[in-house]
Amino acid sequence: MAGKEYSFQQHNDFIRKYQEGTTRKELARQLGVTVSAVNNRLVRLGVPTEKRPFQKPKEPTLKRFLQCYEELRRFMGALKASALTYYQFQWAYKKLPRFRKAFTEHYNVIQSTYRCTLCEKVFPEEDIPKHARKENTRTGQCRVCLAERRTMILPREMKAQWEKQGGLCAYTGRPMNGGKDAAAWDGDVLCRKVVREMKGKLGKEEFVELCREVVVGSAADGQTT
Ligand SMILES: [Zn+2]
Repeated sequence: MAGKEYSFQQHNDFIRKYQEGTTRKELARQLGVTVSAVNNRLVRLGVPTEKRPFQKPKEPTLKRFLQCYEELRRFMGALKASALTYYQFQWAYKKLPRFRKAFTEHYNVIQSTYRCTLCEKVFPEEDIPKHARKENTRTGQCRVCLAERRTMILPREMKAQWEKQGGLCAYTGRPMNGGKDAAAWDGDVLCRKVVREMKGKLGKEEFVELCREVVVGSAADGQTT
């Protein structure tokens, strides 16, 4: 998930404080965010207000949420995809033992496994090399697929250079393994496709300098919001 990622505990604390009567202004002060950020979060989490009374989640919605969670392997993404609010989830988790049990089972499986994005099989943690893991979606590339990709999918002239770089992007040092991270030529080195697209016609020095400006610029931006 892009942006800030909160834990269940942080969401629960936030909701509890609001319901115990902490004002939006005070919540904003405690969290170091703006009042409108607090408002947005209340809406996003589906916290009931006078204007928006609580609606119990329907059985099919809860079922769809569990399916989405299994499919996407991302909690907030699954809420969004199934149009279930966090508040409704919290309610169902507390009030419906069957839902709690089903959710806990899904959660435990997802947190202890990774799904290979190439062969779609689910593997225990140790079968997905660390460099090939995507933590936020609990997905990655399994050893078998990584090994096969080396010989099967890369064009012959790329293979030698890919091996030489150990499968890592010349600019970011991250694995080049398909999709936007597929290997692409940049002069006589390989880098991730997404990096190649960003770099455009810039020389190496200019590109690195531009990246530095982006990092500094976005850090400064973060301080004012
Ligand atoms: Zn695989």
